[in-house]
Amino acid sequence: MPRRRREHEQIRDFLRTIGPLVFAAGLIMTAIGFISFFSSFGSFQPPRYFWCAFVGLPLMGVGGSLSKFGFLGSVTRYMANEVTPVGTDVLNTVVRDTKGSFRDLAAAVGSGLRDGTDLPGAATAIACPACSAENEPDARFCKACGASLAPRSCSHCGDQAAADARFCDSCGKALT
Ligand SMILES: [Zn+2]
Ligand SMILES: [Zn+2]
Repeated sequence: MPRRRREHEQIRDFLRTIGPLVFAAGLIMTAIGFISFFSSFGSFQPPRYFWCAFVGLPLMGVGGSLSKFGFLGSVTRYMANEVTPVGTDVLNTVVRDTKGSFRDLAAAVGSGLRDGTDLPGAATAIACPACSAENEPDARFCKACGASLAPRSCSHCGDQAAADARFCDSCGKALT
């Protein structure tokens, strides 16, 4: 592979050297041809060097193409190394920001919905103290295991405690 790469670089360097040279030679010959053509207007001599333009113009084209191929490698490599990662970064940033925004939006909507169900007076499901199954808030017995879901009274302070509560919310003692 390194040998191939070196060959490639040699060809590229050759093209970079010979391309502009051919282009310059073509440019000079074209100039000579046109100067000869226009200067022949004054005299009645036929333009002796006008043929130079016919050689020079294709030479300019060939030289330009050679230069283009010679410098094309570095251009495409620059595009591949410099431009694409930047583009990818920008794309990633945009995607990340968009995803973040959607996540925030989804979280906001989700919490909004949860807030709606958590409004005072709104009923929430109660978990069975025996099997943890979720039951309707007004259920008196667990639909999964039949355990009583009736509110209990704390044996320490007598306060009412939810069926799935593990500690009294008035005195903090464990509910049995
Ligand atoms: Zn149960
Ligand atoms: Zn209590």
